[in-house]
Amino acid sequence: MDPAEDLPQNKVFGKKRLPSAHLFAKIEQQDQAPCQHGREEAFSSMKLLEERIRKDGIIEQGDVLKVDSFLNHQMDVELYREMGREWARLFAGEKITKILTIEASGIGIACVAALEFGVPVIFAKKSKTKNIAGEVYSTVVTSFTHGNVNTVIVSKKFLGPEDRVLIIDDFLANGAAMLGLIDIVHQAGAEVVGCGIAIEKAFQPGGARLREMGMRVESLARVSKLGDGVIEFID
Ligand code: 5GP
Repeated sequence: MDPAEDLPQNKVFGKKRLPSAHLFAKIEQQDQAPCQHGREEAFSSMKLLEERIRKDGIIEQGDVLKVDSFLNHQMDVELYREMGREWARLFAGEKITKILTIEASGIGIACVAALEFGVPVIFAKKSKTKNIAGEVYSTVVTSFTHGNVNTVIVSKKFLGPEDRVLIIDDFLANGAAMLGLIDIVHQAGAEVVGCGIAIEKAFQPGGARLREMGMRVESLARVSKLGDGVIEFID
């Protein structure tokens, strides 16, 4: 059977696609090559992202994982595309109408994912104005990496009760960013279909908090341990 048969229809290009051949070549060279499980398994488990984190991730103080060379500063858009395809596979049939993220580092992955879903992306903007009324939904988010508190806003023009929203972000740590974005979707009377996370730091409480609330959280890599030069993942 053509392995593309199980993949969701790509709304933008109108055909089913597999990861590009040379990305498969990259993972097949690695120790945890997909040989035992086959290509589809490797595709769905996003081992590619885990391996990239192992190879290029830098552990910083304060439980921070730096992934500037492929995710947060220089951007490996081919890897982004595989991530987008995986979320499209996981959320196939969910009739998502909008993708919501938060500036700045969620924007790139959300845009590439949106190509797979064929829907617009909205990013919540960090606003300098404290009291904004009327035209925007607003909420307050404490930044994990900077420790400061931001008011984030989304124009009421772009989100309404008819929307079914997938929220995407690069990291999930304590869950403040996700909870803020969920609050904005709820203010709009729209539905959160789920959260698509690139890297969940599962040793921090955000993932458990969201799942306890009944949220569907699909994290492509789940880090269970970070420190002493070691990064471990939950399979
Ligand atoms: P949370 O709101 O879940 O506590 O943290 C998520 C946000 O903080 C993400 O938007 C992400 O930008 C940032 N963040 C959290 N942990 C890390 C990390 O280990 N590395 C990087 N680069 N960003 C992180």
